[in-house]
Amino acid sequence: MAELSATPPLDPAPLPWLVPRFAELARLADAGRLPHALLLSGPRGVGKRSLADALIARTLCAAPGQTACGTCHGCAMLASGYHPDLLRVELEEGKRQIRIDAIREVNAFVAQTAQQGGYRVILISPAETMNVAAANALLKSLEEPGGRTLFVLLADIPSRLLPTIRSRCQHWSLAPPEEAACLPWLAQRLGDEEEARFWLGLAGGLPLAALAQAEPASRALRQQLLETFEALVRGAEPVAEAARLERQSVEATLWYGIAWLEDLIRLGLSGEPGGVRNPDLLPLYRQAVKNGRVRDWFRLLDYAREQRRLLAAGGNPNPQLVLEAWLVRWSALLRS
Ligand SMILES: [Zn+2]
Repeated sequence: MAELSATPPLDPAPLPWLVPRFAELARLADAGRLPHALLLSGPRGVGKRSLADALIARTLCAAPGQTACGTCHGCAMLASGYHPDLLRVELEEGKRQIRIDAIREVNAFVAQTAQQGGYRVILISPAETMNVAAANALLKSLEEPGGRTLFVLLADIPSRLLPTIRSRCQHWSLAPPEEAACLPWLAQRLGDEEEARFWLGLAGGLPLAALAQAEPASRALRQQLLETFEALVRGAEPVAEAARLERQSVEATLWYGIAWLEDLIRLGLSGEPGGVRNPDLLPLYRQAVKNGRVRDWFRLLDYAREQRRLLAAGGNPNPQLVLEAWLVRWSALLRS
């Protein structure tokens, strides 16, 4: 359901690697050429939310400079966590879809006048989780939003949006930043540049994902999965290994499995360790590459991606079975 209040308050400053894109948006806004609907897409962990937050704050600010001023009445309201002209529609905890009720609220919101006399802003995230009824209900507002209205749609996978929604938005796609643009930021948070480089590589160059992977709970899970992987290489029984893993960790298990398979394929094809994302796993990879064939790694990769897609769509009700089937396949490859 849509929420009128929000915590924590928006950060009006974009993350450092997003500053150039933000400056482009600010220039468009100052020239009165900001589109009424923006679709910001990019992989999870690239910083879409930060860019959206900074843009929303600047749009609702009465006296913006490069960023929102931070002191006007609009900025003060945002800082307090509530602004009457901002509506956020986000996926509820534990839900997989944004439903039509939430979008009806958006349509009612768009039909009102802005209370502060400026813009009305609607954030929808992740936009691709709108079901068909919700997306269709949004179309009319996207087509005839009225003046001074800004829709910001965020999407990890924009291809999952209805084409009719995509075509009504100006699409901005965010790619993983250059290392130099985000490494200092990450190093500051992790306390060390080498550490930052390691986790950034592991996260495929996505700085926020790197930060999340480096958190103690994620590190512990990675360590546990690494031990499982080692055990399988040594010939351990996969069903028993699956039973030791947390059911909740199934998505992370698939995520790591996919990253490791991609490493294995890269290593198997080129023989060069340079491009792998998990250099600490090279000794294990070398052992696995000896046993498996690249063709089979590709098959397992397809399987893992399909499982992850099904999980995201709520298609498989039993995570434990997914874990078992996954480890059984891994183990068969590692032992072949
Ligand atoms: Zn302001």
